[in-house]
Amino acid sequence: MLKLEGSRCVRYYSKLSGCDRCQAICPEDAIKTQEGGVAIWQQECIECGACVGVCPTEALALSSLNVTEFVFELLKSEDDIIGCRYNFVCLAGLSVEYLIALGLVKDITLDIGHCAECEIKESCFPVIEHNIAQANYVLGAIGAKTIEAKELRKMKENAPDRREFFNLFTLQGAMRAKEELHEEMKALEDPSIALSDSEAKAIRDKTIPNKRKLLFMLLKRFPKPQEYKYLENEHLTFVSDKEIDHTCDNCSICYRICPTEALSTTKRGDKILFDAMLCVRCHLCHDVCEKQSIKLSQYFDTKELFEPEQKVLAAFSMVRCEDCGALYTYFGEEEMLCPRCRIEEEEAKSLWGIE
Ligand code: SF4
Ligand code: SF4
Repeated sequence: MLKLEGSRCVRYYSKLSGCDRCQAICPEDAIKTQEGGVAIWQQECIECGACVGVCPTEALALSSLNVTEFVFELLKSEDDIIGCRYNFVCLAGLSVEYLIALGLVKDITLDIGHCAECEIKESCFPVIEHNIAQANYVLGAIGAKTIEAKELRKMKENAPDRREFFNLFTLQGAMRAKEELHEEMKALEDPSIALSDSEAKAIRDKTIPNKRKLLFMLLKRFPKPQEYKYLENEHLTFVSDKEIDHTCDNCSICYRICPTEALSTTKRGDKILFDAMLCVRCHLCHDVCEKQSIKLSQYFDTKELFEPEQKVLAAFSMVRCEDCGALYTYFGEEEMLCPRCRIEEEEAKSLWGIE
């Protein structure tokens, strides 16, 4: 069964979120992103895992496969091949971060031998190719061995043939539907996008996805390159570097909403800080910025992978309001009034007919 942890999905953080990566890759139209949430039609889902791989915040997971555990097991084992008919679901279910993490430790080969004749190749194969290219772009830049993609057509012992393979997805779904009849039936009729109380509360918690934690851990063990290279930000989908231009008025929405605390502020609120290695590139800060002040930088410095640094994206003067005493962002106005007291003063003036 496909599980959605709503408190991790950026659609639940803001109605302005435009994230639709899960819907875009789903080959069976089992996922619909909506304003303020995501609906899943469990009866359509074939559990290929592709949506799990593209979700930036790990909001989606298969009950039958924990990808972090799979990666750990593979790292421990002698095996170095990953294939959809051999030991994994669709290779699109392996995000770029996991591919890089694996590439740092092992000579990994992805078996793409079944892709050409696969029923879901149209949605998934371009993403598989792009993820491999992206992982190799990063691995190559830091002097690690790149990942190979080969047509091995490796099969698990007693694996069903191709036609039976997809029938099995449906069969698996039907068996689980029996076990989880109640929830499943509810999902069949009306896939609710509502959050439970505990999920709604958990939205305030800032969490770093497991895939990012694993990458951190393995990068620490990898020798630092002699010199750091710059990567083109536009070729990356899992991390980013950012800039904030002069139009920013320190409204605070970007750092309050960032799900991983990649964006943050100081106690005084006079700076917007950014930690590139915590950014999962969910695009939420861009979606909610009314003035479009936050932008992607042209380059991502690979130094961030080994020596992450928090940088100042914007700095402001903070002063106390002459009226209420609250701290506010000062842009050189004549009257030292916070926005709320300024509005109150303007309203009072118009009420009394004072210019
Ligand atoms: S955060 Fe994940 S689950 Fe939510 S819309 Fe984006 S891809 Fe889908
Ligand atoms: S900095 Fe922006 S793109 Fe990066 S994780 Fe935070 S909200 Fe998402």
